[in-house]
Order: sequence, then structure tokens, then C-alpha cells
Amino acid sequence: MITYESIEELNEEIKVCQKCPLFKGRTLAVPGNGNLHAKILFLGEGPGSSEDKAGLPFVGDAGKFLDEMLSSIKLKREDIYITNVVKCRPPNNRDPLEEEVSVCVRTYLFHQIKLIKPELIVTMGRHAMQTFFPQIKSISSVHGKAYKKANQVYYILYHPAAALYQSSLKKTMQDDFKKIPEIISLIK
Ligand code: URA
Repeated sequence: MITYESIEELNEEIKVCQKCPLFKGRTLAVPGNGNLHAKILFLGEGPGSSEDKAGLPFVGDAGKFLDEMLSSIKLKREDIYITNVVKCRPPNNRDPLEEEVSVCVRTYLFHQIKLIKPELIVTMGRHAMQTFFPQIKSISSVHGKAYKKANQVYYILYHPAAALYQSSLKKTMQDDFKKIPEIISLIK
């Protein structure tokens, strides 16, 4: 198994990756960004069109909503690390395919987690949740809950894009988000 010395080295690999067909449609790969010593790693699904152009995660409307929620718990982007399940934009924002997810998380995400060693991984949306909890089929019964698995704590949230465009979810997501400081404070 490959080992990477640093996130920078790993992220350079991601930028030129051709391990799945998604590379053909990308403008830029989106490795992730933020604090390499963050206690919290936020995990989204995959780059959208703004992220694909910028090479940075969550820079579009969902990112603005995420920033608002971060600020509600007194956090900034510089305090956290953000990345996605897949690092290249799926065509027309379709869901990433199982094979694309599988190769991308094994090659990159799991190494990013090993290097950053976050205390808490916050999954946003179904694909991020199912990367760690494939047996859970629907977020509606588990959002706002923390789980410990193999000594890693996870917290499950809806995806900010879903919450942004479905007003009934927006308040739920904002309320779930506000529980993050308490969860962090309980992790030993
Ligand atoms: N949605 C995601 O899941 N990730 C991004 O980076 C942007 C939008």
C-alpha cells in the first residue's frame, strides 16, 4: 500500500489522477482544503460546477450556507478541513457511481484522514455517510447523531445543498450543526 508523507504530496497526486473516468470531464480536481491539523473534517459528496472551476471545495451556494453554519458555531474555514468523497465533478452533477467512489476513497480520502487525524468526521449527505456506514440507507433517521466506529467519531448531517433548497430541512440542518461543539467537547 502506498504511504504519503504529507497531505501536499497526496493532493498533488489527486490533481493529476486518472484512476476513474471522472477525470475526463473535470476542469480541475478538488483535493480539499483547510487546516491540516483540524479537529474536524467535513466531508461532502463531490465538486459541483463552481468547485470544478476553482479547484476548491464548497465555493458555490452550498458553500455559502456552510460558511453561515460554521460561523454560527464560531468556526471559520481555517479551523477545519473540507473535502469530498470524489475529487472530480461527476458530469451534470449526477451522483458518483459506486466504482468511482470506491477507487477515490481508497486511494485518497482514507489517506487524507490518516494524515489529518481529525477527532470528528462530519459527513454531509448520503454518499458521505455511506462511505463509513454503507448499511444505513436513509439519512432521515440518523441525521444529528454521532457514532463511534473503530475509534473514530462521526457525526451525520444532511447535505447543505439539499437543506438549502428544501426549506423544511434548512432549520433541521442548522439545529444539527449547532450540536457540533458539544460533540467535540465529549470526545476524549
Ligand atoms: N457539494 C459538495 O458535495 N461538495 C462541494 O465541494 C460542493 C458542493
